[in-house]
Amino acid sequence: MAGHPANQTTDAEPAADGNPRIKEIYPRYRLDDRRFRIGAQLGITAEFDDAGGEVWDLAESLDGRPVPEVVAAVRRRHPHLSVSDVLDGIATLDHEGFVESATPGGHTEDDFDARLLPNIRYFSRFEGIAGNRYRAQQRLQDSTVLLLGLGGAGSNFLTLLSGVGVGRVIVADHDSVEAANLGRQLLYREKDIGVPKATAAADALEQMNSRVEVRPHVRKVDSAEDVTDLLDGVDLVICAIDEPPFIAQRRVNAACVARNVPCVYGLSQVTRGRVFTVVPGVSGCFDCLNINYSQKDPVFVAQFGFMRSGWEAPSIAYAPALFQLSAVAVDEAVRVLTGYAPPRSVGVQFEIDYEEGTAFHLNDWPRLPELCPTCGTGTESDWEVFREYREGA
Ligand SMILES: [Zn+2]
Repeated sequence: MAGHPANQTTDAEPAADGNPRIKEIYPRYRLDDRRFRIGAQLGITAEFDDAGGEVWDLAESLDGRPVPEVVAAVRRRHPHLSVSDVLDGIATLDHEGFVESATPGGHTEDDFDARLLPNIRYFSRFEGIAGNRYRAQQRLQDSTVLLLGLGGAGSNFLTLLSGVGVGRVIVADHDSVEAANLGRQLLYREKDIGVPKATAAADALEQMNSRVEVRPHVRKVDSAEDVTDLLDGVDLVICAIDEPPFIAQRRVNAACVARNVPCVYGLSQVTRGRVFTVVPGVSGCFDCLNINYSQKDPVFVAQFGFMRSGWEAPSIAYAPALFQLSAVAVDEAVRVLTGYAPPRSVGVQFEIDYEEGTAFHLNDWPRLPELCPTCGTGTESDWEVFREYREGA
């Protein structure tokens, strides 16, 4: 964007009220006597060619004072500007993402734990004058997440859930901490060896962030009913169990769809991580995905043969790779819970390539309400793939 909002027209709504200010996350600095920049990071920086100094003075005045005072201050220095010129200038800067309300929704930083303030400033990137950077954080604090599995993926998910300030986390895992876990499950300590992961995780979180309420369940999740038993009051599920392969996700999906709870699935295999999310009634569910692949991949069902091949997967996990998966999965959970930014994996298999450091949409699939036996009115026996699940179960 080049300067001179006074001479620009904009389709953005003029900012009529609020206490706008240039976002605290952006510096403002001159390059020379006519050009200046807001922002210092590639991709979120704008340069203004502002020979008359109107935009600079406007930006200077956007310090949290009421809009009428901003207008008056700018017009004192630049009498040729009309009131609507200045309002258009504010709207343009807002449209470009540089303006926030100083006191959105009556919240202040004092209302939040100090450790969460950097999160809130991160969220401010995504909110304009009419938005509220505290909203996403408040939503997280008010949320209950059910985390299934506390292994290589889940234990690291839990660390991040603590960091982002989720209010309550229900965790379920039946395993105990083993020495072999300690290279990648960094929530646990040597003293935890032999202790149930759910118990050790709850203790670790109590020391890490005592404001997060953890409800540990030392139990195996072997059926949809086992998941349903844990779903009361849950806003979102994160499924980090992947044994038995596919069957575990199908059980979790059945419970979450029946109770209308969104679920983020995160799994890792050698050099790839995958995150996908089901929002019941909105996106295709896990069984819609099975049908989608059955329709388009002639060897999809045949590939389930690996489950009967006698191959027992060794533990393959490299902590830096798992952290990439953890980052994407937990950010996705935050996106679904708060809407601070659009989720990337709703109805999409979002694939992370650890080797290349890239991520991409592997596949997207629709809701199939007339075909899916789980989220629609379809018949399970119509689909060969679901027989594979019964044989494998
Ligand atoms: Zn479905």
